[in-house]
Amino acid sequence: MEKISVVIPCYNEEEAIPLFYEEISKTIEKMKKKVTFELIFVNDGSKDKTLEEFRKLSKKDKNVRYVSFSRNFGKEAAMLAGLEYATGDYVTTMDVDLQDPPYLLEEMYRLIKEEGFDCVATKSTSRNGYSFFRKFCTKWYYRIIGAISKTEMVAGARDFRLMTRQMVDAILSMKEYNRYSKGLFSFVGFDTKWIEFENQERVAGTTKWSFWKLFSYALDGITAFSTTPLVLAALIGVLFCFIAFVMIIVIILKTVIWGDPVSGWPSLTCIVFLVGGVQLFCTGIIGQYLAKTYLETKNRPVYIVKETESSKK
Ligand code: UDP
Ligand code: MG
Repeated sequence: MEKISVVIPCYNEEEAIPLFYEEISKTIEKMKKKVTFELIFVNDGSKDKTLEEFRKLSKKDKNVRYVSFSRNFGKEAAMLAGLEYATGDYVTTMDVDLQDPPYLLEEMYRLIKEEGFDCVATKSTSRNGYSFFRKFCTKWYYRIIGAISKTEMVAGARDFRLMTRQMVDAILSMKEYNRYSKGLFSFVGFDTKWIEFENQERVAGTTKWSFWKLFSYALDGITAFSTTPLVLAALIGVLFCFIAFVMIIVIILKTVIWGDPVSGWPSLTCIVFLVGGVQLFCTGIIGQYLAKTYLETKNRPVYIVKETESSKK
C-alpha cells in the first residue's frame, strides 16, 4: 500500500500537539483502506514540553516519528528536515495548530491519484483573525514580489500541500541555505492544483511569527527569488546623474546671466543629505545580496539534529 508522510514543524506547541494528533487520526482512520500514514513531527528547539509530547506519541503509535533540533532553526529548516526524513510516496507539510485542516487530505489525495496532478496546494480565502495592518502589508508584499520575481508567488498560499515523491525529490535537490519554500515549490514547477478553504483560527497556543520575523522572512523571499532590487539601485543612480546634469546646466546659466554665486546653502545641504541617503540605501541593497551570498558560501548545515525516535526510545 502507498504511504503519505505528514511533516509537522513545531515550536513551543505542547498544547496543540495532542489536539492535532486526535484530529489527524480521524482522517487516517477514514483513509486506512486506501493508504497508510507516517507522521513526522519536527521539534524546532522548543522550550516547552513539545519533545516529551513527541516521545509519548511515538511510543504509543509506531507510525509517529520525530526529529528534534539542537536549537530553534526556524520553520523553513524544520520543513526541510521533515522532507528529508519522510519516506512516503506522497509528502505533505502541515501546521500543528490545525490552521491546515487534516480532513482536506482525503480530497487532495484523490486529486493526485485520479486526476493525475503532481501536487495539490491550498490557499486560504479570507484572512480573518489577522490585523488590518498585517493584511495590508501582505497584500502589498505579494503585489511587489509578483512584479519583480519571475517565480510566481501565490497570495494566501499556505505551506500545506500534498506532493508526489518526484516533486519532493526535486525540492530536496535544491541545496540552498536561504530557503523560501513558497518560491521553491513554485520554482520546481509540476502540475499543481489549487484548492481553497476558509481561514481557520489557531486551536491552541499563540502565533510564533512576530511582525519583524515576518518582515525579515519577506525580505528573504525577495532576495532569494529576485535580483530586481539591484537593478533598481542602478536605475536610481542613473536618474540622479541625470538630475545633477540638468541642475549643473541651470546653475551655470543662472550664474552667467544674473551672477548669483553665494545663495543656496540650505538647498545644497538638502541635496547632500538626499544623495547620501540614496547612496546608503543602494549600498544596503547590495549588502543584502552580499550577505546572502556570504551565508551560502559558508555551506553551514540548515539544521542540527539532537534526537530522533530511533536514537532514543
Ligand atoms: N514554527 C516552527 N518554527 C518557528 C516558528 C514556527 O516550527 O520558528 C511552526 C509552528 O509551530 C507552527 C507552524 O510553524 O506549526 C506555523 O507557525 P504559526 O502557526 O505560529 O504561524 P501563523 O499560522 O500564525 O502564520
Ligand atoms: Mg498557524
